[in-house]
Amino acid sequence: MIYKRSSALFAEAEKVIPGGVNSPVRAFKGVGGTPIFVKEAKGAYLYDEDGNRLVDYINSWGPMILGHAYKPVVDAVVEKAQKGTSFGMPTEIETKIAELAVSMVPNIDKIRFVNSGTEACMSAVRLARGYTGKDKVIKFAGCYHGHSDSFLIQAGSGASTFGTPNSPGVTQGTAKDTLLAKYNDIDNVNALIESNKGEIACIIIEPVAGNMGCIPPKDGFLQALREVCNANNILLVFDEVMTGFRLSKGGAQELFNVKADIVCFGKVIGGGLPVGAFAARNEIMNHLAPLGPVYQAGTLSGNPLAMAAGLAMLKELNNDGDIFTRLEEKTKYLHEGISKVLVVNDVTHTINRVGSMISVHFDEGAVTDFDSSAYGNNDTFKKFFHGLLNEGVYIAPSAFETWFITDALSYKDLDFTIEAIDKVSKTL
Ligand code: PMP
Repeated sequence: MIYKRSSALFAEAEKVIPGGVNSPVRAFKGVGGTPIFVKEAKGAYLYDEDGNRLVDYINSWGPMILGHAYKPVVDAVVEKAQKGTSFGMPTEIETKIAELAVSMVPNIDKIRFVNSGTEACMSAVRLARGYTGKDKVIKFAGCYHGHSDSFLIQAGSGASTFGTPNSPGVTQGTAKDTLLAKYNDIDNVNALIESNKGEIACIIIEPVAGNMGCIPPKDGFLQALREVCNANNILLVFDEVMTGFRLSKGGAQELFNVKADIVCFGKVIGGGLPVGAFAARNEIMNHLAPLGPVYQAGTLSGNPLAMAAGLAMLKELNNDGDIFTRLEEKTKYLHEGISKVLVVNDVTHTINRVGSMISVHFDEGAVTDFDSSAYGNNDTFKKFFHGLLNEGVYIAPSAFETWFITDALSYKDLDFTIEAIDKVSKTL
């Protein structure tokens, strides 16, 4: 494939944007080479500036669960835009999307909209601290909750890809309040709670991790977190920025039948526009300004275009009784197809999958936490990535990411992908 125009555009971008990108993983630093500049996208496909077509397994890192330029979402945004793009005043559509979200997700009474997943998680932790009157937070190594200071401690996703899981600029004072646990290791969590008795406001977790590849919670792990939180007056925060409205209507809470105290959203809830949200029961949400003392605000929060996109997206997901089963079946088909060709071609691997999240790791051991995921960050992954790109299949340019399956992918697209993987496997 030719990437002449992408390369030229990247060179121009590098002069005026740090690293040529507005979010680090896009720069291909983890895999080498020049990032692809996208011109447009429709359904399951990206079309780049050189005229190449790529089958997309990133899907804007999750939001495009129904495919790119999905008509009901696009129509809703266009219609709204003609009536004004921002007011900084209440609008009816904010209540409409809030009502729908609250009806779809278990155990929440109220939801507040923000502009990104980062903001959602940052605000959720502030709320947990304000509600409990405690300072410390437990997070898990390899989980990513956005780039706010408290979370850049052993963070996954781009932070791991770039070898800066602990970012300069985060003060010692902030870092000391973030306690680090090992994903899927309840003994480790219990030990942290024991040695910080009465000081922990919340445990924040990706209930299915998607920022160190896709890592499912071990059987009983989320339940055990729930119990230990109950016993110690600690709030359980589910970061469902990836899993919300993706694994089921009610997200991971519904799928695993575990209730969180605060739930964070992003990605799908904004239908591809910049949206995040956090939600909880009344007793917790009523601590937020203007009802309560915990401050949180936003000039563009609840923006009408973003709310229109999100509402159109949630309506589609809510009205389609089969969507989550269909997505899971497609993902299972892909999983089985990839497994088969990797086995035939004798490529050492592990595949993890939950619902429509899947990741391929080039290591034979089980991938259950950050350390085991890191083994798959190797030359085989880099060759795999570039091989697939050459075949017209676009996966995340980092071994620490999940693939997101969209409903726009047909079985023909999945077969095309499996054939591409077969070809590439012979070169690994
Ligand atoms: N939480 C999770 C689980 C995420 O995957 C991400 C982004 N990938 C975030 C939070 C941060 O969201 P945003 O990039 O919208 O700030």
